[in-house]
Amino acid sequence: MTEQQTIDIARLPVMGEAAQQSYPTATLYVVATPIGNVTDITLRALHLLALADVVACEDTRKTGALLQRFGLNKQTIAAHQHNEREVADKIIERLHAGQRVALVSDAGTPAVSDPGARIVDAVRNAGLNVAPLPGPSAVITALSASGLVNDRFHFVGFLPAKSKQREAALAPLVRETSTLVFYEAPHRIVDCVEALMEAFEPARQVVFARELSKLFEEVHRCALGEALAWVKADQHRERGEFVVLVEGAVAETDEQDAEAERILQILLAECSVKQAANLAAQITGRKKNALYERALQIKGE
Ligand code: SAM
Repeated sequence: MTEQQTIDIARLPVMGEAAQQSYPTATLYVVATPIGNVTDITLRALHLLALADVVACEDTRKTGALLQRFGLNKQTIAAHQHNEREVADKIIERLHAGQRVALVSDAGTPAVSDPGARIVDAVRNAGLNVAPLPGPSAVITALSASGLVNDRFHFVGFLPAKSKQREAALAPLVRETSTLVFYEAPHRIVDCVEALMEAFEPARQVVFARELSKLFEEVHRCALGEALAWVKADQHRERGEFVVLVEGAVAETDEQDAEAERILQILLAECSVKQAANLAAQITGRKKNALYERALQIKGE
């Protein structure tokens, strides 16, 4: 066994490096903040937050508390999904005055299923400088520990809350071969899993990345057919924050595609869209929802 090493972080030369870097004025800094563990903040983020003239944030109380943990007492302004356009004007004024403005969200990377994109867009359109400070993001953290071997992923983010809309959002993804990545709020995890089980084959691998970087972190992988049982096996699981990853579809060959299409066409000549989709699903082993969507397209509905 190798000898365990310890480090005195404060004495590391790299600590000084972050302070010596250039942080130009008149710039909007898009700063990633921790998704759970406060010590996941980066050195550059800390220095920039210390230098910033103002911090634009989703929730001034939450960010105020985070800044306090780093010994910072900063002016904050609210920048949430309901005021992005107006606050963008205020930020642009400050940038014209030569200030450094930090943009953060409650957790993780701003503008990823979080407010921020409209502000960045407005600042860019005004010809002003935007600099990203990389750091934590739940999607990347979850992917890295999933073990799903696929170079491509399709980030879906939050599914709609209403079941019909959720179904409609999932239908076009059924044949997607990239790993699918969903964000989910704790109170909707059961609905989400039920919808995934309805949409995709039970043999697909699913990964639940729960409470990442927090005390009760769990990264669990199983077949989709076993997913609901796993979520329900422990009542705490319906409370944590989740990233859900679903293995992509196996790419169909052109011949298999053509055969499914041929069967659907024949059935549609004789039956309703619903019956044709049901029968085609039984014959081909494909998912009913996807065949139903395709049948609607063929019928021009
Ligand atoms: N901008 C953030 C990012 O970069 O990941 C995402 C913000 S979004 C409003 C919140 C969602 O991200 C949660 O509902 C959950 O799906 C996911 N999330 C955030 N923190 C997480 C964590 N610690 N563990 C698992 N999922 C998390």
